[in-house]
Amino acid sequence: MFKRIGVLTSGGDAAGMNAAIRAVTRTAVYAGLEVMGVRKGFSGLIDGDFIPLGAREVGGIISKGGTLLKSARCLEFKTEAGQDSALRTLKKEGIEALIVIGGNGSQAGAHRLSALGMPVVGIASTIDNDLPGSEITLGVDTALNIALEAIDRLKTTASSHKRAFLVEVMGRNCGYLALMSGIAGGAEIIAIPEAPCGPETIAEIFRASNERGKTHAIGVIAEGAKFSALEISHYFKTHPETIDFDLRLTTLGHVQRGGQPTAFDRILAARFGAAAVNALLCNESNVLVGLQKGKITTTALSEIVKAKKPLDLGLLEMSRVLSI
Ligand code: ATP
Repeated sequence: MFKRIGVLTSGGDAAGMNAAIRAVTRTAVYAGLEVMGVRKGFSGLIDGDFIPLGAREVGGIISKGGTLLKSARCLEFKTEAGQDSALRTLKKEGIEALIVIGGNGSQAGAHRLSALGMPVVGIASTIDNDLPGSEITLGVDTALNIALEAIDRLKTTASSHKRAFLVEVMGRNCGYLALMSGIAGGAEIIAIPEAPCGPETIAEIFRASNERGKTHAIGVIAEGAKFSALEISHYFKTHPETIDFDLRLTTLGHVQRGGQPTAFDRILAARFGAAAVNALLCNESNVLVGLQKGKITTTALSEIVKAKKPLDLGLLEMSRVLSI
């Protein structure tokens, strides 16, 4: 049985990370374990930047966005020397198992540590929702609701002035957030990396929307789409005859990451955090904790790093029908 475990947050921050740190800490303390928080992701492992966490230290954070432990992207950890150094620090600190809260890259890092002999459990957390092993990852619901609120607001002003809006939504190379916020916000067109769509197509859809009597048109453009929202807006500037609306561009950017986690994300964080510690207590490690078919599951990290998460493109087709 482990005596002391570590917990860290890595990669982009996601709403619900704090709630997950709280759940990990309290489940572990309840089971009689000591918990060390590792600050600034994998760089804190290399630098030995630890803080002891008890039940009171994680009080009051359930409703807060961001992460108490800070997060970071650490290039040094991608090297063998960086990973060896992290392992040495963990051993020196008496940390016998680690919980890694983060996305794709972070779980690749977790897999490396597990291959070096450290028992690790990952918690699926990224607003991009591009991590296999969990149908929805921690932070997605909050980011989605923030994007949706922005789209709803833009739609109101667009209708009042007969405007078209291009709204750029985060998600790196994954179109999930753009697709879902576009469906929920009733966008006329959604451009995502998984289904490339050029400015001419967007112009055509905007024109057709006008002809059907729409007073606004909303294009949700994923951050990783083949043509960026800025490139599309340049196209309209140089081809003004192709659009019957006054065009505006809004980039949501990091606004999507901040704010209080939704109830869904807090509950998911509680379930993920508790399950991660329970997995370690049951001697199950080198796995990712996720949500599949409504149940908390564990999937081998070795599978996670090989797999890709597909996007349901039928939903894109459906959104086109629903926007007539
Ligand atoms: P998000 O989806 O929010 O961006 P992420 O976990 O995918 O989160 P990354 O920046 O890809 O974010 O990765 C976070 C950190 O994980 C990196 O800075 C690095 O320290 C570590 N990491 C990423 N890829 C690897 C890898 N192949 N091997 C070891 N460590 C890695």
